[in-house]
Amino acid sequence: HSRGLYATDASLYEMFPVAVALPRDEADVLAALRLAREFGVSVLARGGGTSLAGQAVGHSLVLDFSRYMNRLLEVNPEERWARVEPGLVRDELNRRLAPHGLHFAPDPATSSRANFGGMIANNSSGTRSIFYGKTVDHLLELKVALADGTVLHFGELSPEAYEARCRQTDREGEIHRRFRELIRPHEADILAAFPKVMRRVQGYNLDEFAGKTNWNLAKLICGSEGTLALILEAKVRLEPLPAHKSLCVVHFRGLGEALRGVNPILEFGPSAVELLDEKVLAQARNNLLTRRLCYFLEGEPSAVLVVEFFADTAEEAARRPAQMAQALQSRGIGYAWPVLTDPR
Ligand SMILES: Cc1cc2nc3c(=O)[nH]c(=O)nc-3n(C[C@H](O)[C@H](O)[C@H](O)COP(=O)(O)OP(=O)(O)OC[C@H]3O[C@@H](n4cnc5c(N)ncnc54)[C@H](O)[C@@H]3O)c2cc1C
Repeated sequence: HSRGLYATDASLYEMFPVAVALPRDEADVLAALRLAREFGVSVLARGGGTSLAGQAVGHSLVLDFSRYMNRLLEVNPEERWARVEPGLVRDELNRRLAPHGLHFAPDPATSSRANFGGMIANNSSGTRSIFYGKTVDHLLELKVALADGTVLHFGELSPEAYEARCRQTDREGEIHRRFRELIRPHEADILAAFPKVMRRVQGYNLDEFAGKTNWNLAKLICGSEGTLALILEAKVRLEPLPAHKSLCVVHFRGLGEALRGVNPILEFGPSAVELLDEKVLAQARNNLLTRRLCYFLEGEPSAVLVVEFFADTAEEAARRPAQMAQALQSRGIGYAWPVLTDPR
């Protein structure tokens, strides 16, 4: 029965695990790795299992970190960081950070279920990625276990500190040396070939190293989908909660027009731009639960862009969307621009 439960995630794939383990701590993880080596079975880490591409299912020994390794280990509000176990859910951390006026900013739509291990391994981000970036931009340190059971700490290293690691004669030294040998000769190609887009999470984050002075191998683990190491612990950066928020809902008569409207809107520095097309709007207007949330819609738009602004004061929160609405109107972008300073 349990193997059946773990045979699916949010993707359409179905693969029965060889076995499932629910580690309580690092010692359990290392014991599971030992067993996997002994029986020649692959190991697959799993958090909330909300991945869409089958990353959390496989014919493997599945390690579910969400059951027990889900503790918040430490918070330092002054220095704005938290140390977490991989199974902690993102919204749960933010609930506990709220009294400090802080939050972990990357916001995948599944943030009520997504675990830190899954978010880091997927390099997750959400609607506010244009403002906050991706998980890799908020990752400070990682404690990881390699397939051979070696436990390593990764954090930012100056060139001198990296050189010192390379001189070590152990596995850690070998990894630092070989990674540098892989990157250095190809830095120009990496810089030239990596797509310059805001939200790109496929492949290893080699662009976090090419042309950079300080290296942090935690950023290589981020986005690696559990293929390089198991995440045992993470230290993540926290951001202050925005004091005020406001919205401008830009209405369009065509989907293409809405898509072309995004770049001009970005000039106004919003924290999020979310597209809702006519199918979603029609469903929302028909649904008894969501109908009352559609009060701001004017006419029959083919699409709307919901544009969010952060501000330090209530005045600024009112001014920024109003300024944008006026500018878009004068440039003929959209046909209605309601501003909401107290979004329900
Ligand atoms: C409706 C829906 C909306 C979504 N929206 C977004 C979105 O807005 N943005 C976004 O980025 N993603 C989105 N996703 C994808 C997914 O929800 C996120 O990427 C989420 O952060 C994954 O977290 P998880 O805990 O469920 O990870 P899982 O699915 O459990 O695992 C994800 C990957 O992480 C690895 N992993 C898990 N734990 C560890 C560990 N301890 N060590 C090493 N590797 C580990 C797994 O092996 C797997 O490769 C969405 C998914 C759904 C179903």
